[in-house]
Amino acid sequence: MSAVVYARVPDALKQALAARARERGLSLTAAVVALLERGLDASEEERAREREAELAASASELERTRARLAEAEAALALAREREQITATSFRALAERARGELASCPQCRKSLRGSDLLVSGHCPQCARPITALLLPRAQTGALDRDAYLALLGALGGLVGLALASSGG
Ligand SMILES: [Zn+2]
Repeated sequence: MSAVVYARVPDALKQALAARARERGLSLTAAVVALLERGLDASEEERAREREAELAASASELERTRARLAEAEAALALAREREQITATSFRALAERARGELASCPQCRKSLRGSDLLVSGHCPQCARPITALLLPRAQTGALDRDAYLALLGALGGLVGLALASSGG
């Protein structure tokens, strides 16, 4: 079965088609049909190659996304682990801070680590008790200022531990 296609083409193209038909011993129609079929096949192949290239690009993008996801998951796992360790250390420190450590020089009631390190005064009589933290004067004693600065920093940490482990 065949149909007719009317198409107006430039003279030069018509002459080239006629020359080609003569070279191959074909009718002009047969030459045109052969060339059109070849052109259609080529354009199909080109589209297929483009689709393949798009598919390959998508696959490599997916691969990169997976790699980034794996990195993010590993970082999250590490962060969780660190958080767990921090929480455990904080609980241990808070527990220590809640334990009885000394007795008030004024009212003789017991003092907890947190009273010494965090509030700095007796919860019963409100007497300042930071002096209890000072080491006795002796040879080779600690630098007083450095020691107090260290205790201040520790007190801050203890306060944080108490707050983060439920007071
Ligand atoms: Zn007291």
